[in-house]
Amino acid sequence: GKKETKMVRSDELRVAGIRISHPDRRIYDRPAVTKRDVAEHAEALAPRMLRFLKDRPVSLLRCPDGAAGECFFQKHRTRGMPAAMKTVAVETKSGPEDFITLPDVSALVGATQMGTLEFHIWGSRNRSLARPDRLVFDLDPDEGLDFAHVRNAAAELRGLLADLGLPSVPMLSGGKGVHVIVPLKPKAEWESVKLFSRALATHLAQEAPDRYTATMAKAGRKGRIFIDWLRNDRGSTAIAPYSLRARPGAPVATPVEWDELASARSGGDWTIRSIRDRLDRPCPLAEASARPATLGRTVIGRLERLVAG
Ligand code: ATP
Ligand code: MN
Ligand code: MN
Repeated sequence: GKKETKMVRSDELRVAGIRISHPDRRIYDRPAVTKRDVAEHAEALAPRMLRFLKDRPVSLLRCPDGAAGECFFQKHRTRGMPAAMKTVAVETKSGPEDFITLPDVSALVGATQMGTLEFHIWGSRNRSLARPDRLVFDLDPDEGLDFAHVRNAAAELRGLLADLGLPSVPMLSGGKGVHVIVPLKPKAEWESVKLFSRALATHLAQEAPDRYTATMAKAGRKGRIFIDWLRNDRGSTAIAPYSLRARPGAPVATPVEWDELASARSGGDWTIRSIRDRLDRPCPLAEASARPATLGRTVIGRLERLVAG
């Protein structure tokens, strides 16, 4: 057939109704990824991402000079933000502040227009900021530690959580590690969720001190995996599922099935290019999120007995 040619000036690209300036600007080398590609990733992944990202405070990692350039976090509204991006009032030590929240695909794409590569989410939703609806254990391997150790750690954590009555889903972070995520009903408040997470991470570190540490200090990490339970606190964030990462190769944070994790090669297995191959399969985290667990007396009691030996 006859090829349709559209005379669209490259500075007039629109994605999800948002005007994208400098669409041909290079954001990643190898693979060559442009600002247009980043906006179209946000649009294509929006149905999956929004399930986890909308109705939460969000921190943006903006990299106006590309993934290899200088990047900065932003959590407050600023002038000149696309109107599609909204705010939520969050009580802080210095009073209420307007935090960014992204309700729909235009808001996601709008964020990419301002140079956002990464989306980081709170563990609770706008309507009940005091009660998290997810637990995240962020497994951080020491420099040079083989990914096989990370896989094993995730599997061990999965078993422990399952014994407590908490089904979990692994997510390749797009970086070095894996996040083990437990969808929760928003019942328990931050304080008890944080105590629970710390107790569980500390228990693992005490049982296998050669493999794990539950303290942030880099010194204690030598050859070990830091079980970062500190994501489970009010105001802490974790990378959103299906967010791009500002790291070489344009990797994407990707929830996977447990049997897929067993053969994963790194936290960055999935990229802006390959992620679309997954879109004809259900999202493992969406499926688990349809059956959230309750962090209540039963579960806490089991952990207390476990820790007591
Ligand atoms: P990796 O698998 O390589 O560790 P990651 O996303 O888990 O990737 P971490 O450094 O472990 O990276 O951080 C975990 C999460 O903590 C981040 O995704 C981010 O949401 C939050 N975080 C870490 N450092 C900062 C920071 N300087 N400012 C804001 N949030 C941060
Ligand atoms: Mn991590
Ligand atoms: Mn971490």
